[in-house]
Amino acid sequence: MKIAVLPGDGIGVEIVAEAVKVMQVLDLHFELEHALVGGAAYEAHGHPLPESTLKLAKDADAVLFGAVGDWKYDTLDRPLRPEQAILGLRKNLGLFANFRPAICYEELVGASSLKPALIAGLDILIIRELTGDIYFGQPRGRRIAVDGHFPGSEEAFDTMRYSRPEIERIAHVAFQAAQKRSKRVTSVDKANVLETFQFWKDVVTEVSQQYPDVALDHMYVDNAAMQLVKAPKKFDVVVTGNMFGDILSDEAAMLTGSIGMLPSASLNAQQQGLYEPSHGSAPDIAGKGIANPLATILSVAMMLRYSLHQPLAANRIESAVKQVLASGLRTTDIYADGNTRVSTRQMGDAVVAALTKTTITKG
Ligand code: NAD
Repeated sequence: MKIAVLPGDGIGVEIVAEAVKVMQVLDLHFELEHALVGGAAYEAHGHPLPESTLKLAKDADAVLFGAVGDWKYDTLDRPLRPEQAILGLRKNLGLFANFRPAICYEELVGASSLKPALIAGLDILIIRELTGDIYFGQPRGRRIAVDGHFPGSEEAFDTMRYSRPEIERIAHVAFQAAQKRSKRVTSVDKANVLETFQFWKDVVTEVSQQYPDVALDHMYVDNAAMQLVKAPKKFDVVVTGNMFGDILSDEAAMLTGSIGMLPSASLNAQQQGLYEPSHGSAPDIAGKGIANPLATILSVAMMLRYSLHQPLAANRIESAVKQVLASGLRTTDIYADGNTRVSTRQMGDAVVAALTKTTITKG
């Protein structure tokens, strides 16, 4: 199993190191190859996604990605900014489906900013389309930086677009995921205002005819944002476009206590995937050894399940994480009175220790 390991910037480096430690005690044979991406790659090679990194990712069975970005790159021309690396990887690997589960662990109910009754037992799956929408529309108004400034522009624009095949394939992914869960899909749009999302709604409705066992409802994105904090457990599978998915999945992440807990998978049609935490490079805490590595460790579990077909190993990681939380260990982002505060490295060590004790369970 060939894995491209791309730690990236900021806390990406610290959390990926812990995830790699976890992979190394799994009794599976991984060929791990590291490469630079994002700001680190820009510093070394003048581009956030060098050809060699892209080739490594394309040739791998899966990619383990940390995070990219730092405020110091905000004045660079857009194509050279670290965040372009993740867009480039999605585009070049054809990663069109982003799975972001938002699960509230029993032990962390108190870490959420919502009342425990609203989120206890929460288990929703946000499926975000990744290759279309306003992030890839043409034409795009470009702001070209000159000596770090944007001179003379009075206007900027981006174009929102979706094609029928793009909507159809993500709708199939959502209905098939729902068939394995509670057989409900909420499609989130803004059809009342945007033509692109009236089209989205129509195509999702057409695809739903092929899944008579799955109930479909439609919700406007502003209402969905409200319902996610009012009654999040009403949702099961949520499918939406690239931009709405970006925003709603971060909102859903916070329901569970910390964005540092939430993994994600981005898959292509061949189930090749890029696995990364839902959060960014957190420059505010980078280098302090306090970042929560669990989202990245749980991303390895998703990798084992979706791309590497090793569900038992995925279960082992998830139960090791539960054990560690049950023992009261917490990084700062999920710490509450009575817990034991640990560093990034100590949290990784604790998962490794729990894993080396767990026996393989059926699943
Ligand atoms: P962020 O997710 O990096 O951080 C938001 C907040 O959450 C910060 O207070 C941070 O300290 C905290 N946080 C995030 N991950 C954490 C963890 N594992 N443990 C504890 N606390 C954690 O978002 P941001 O601050 O808006 O963006 C920072 C940089 O990351 C920007 O350059 C942005 O473009 C980039 N970014 C990259 C990705 C990616 O690589 N896929 C995704 C989002 C943002």
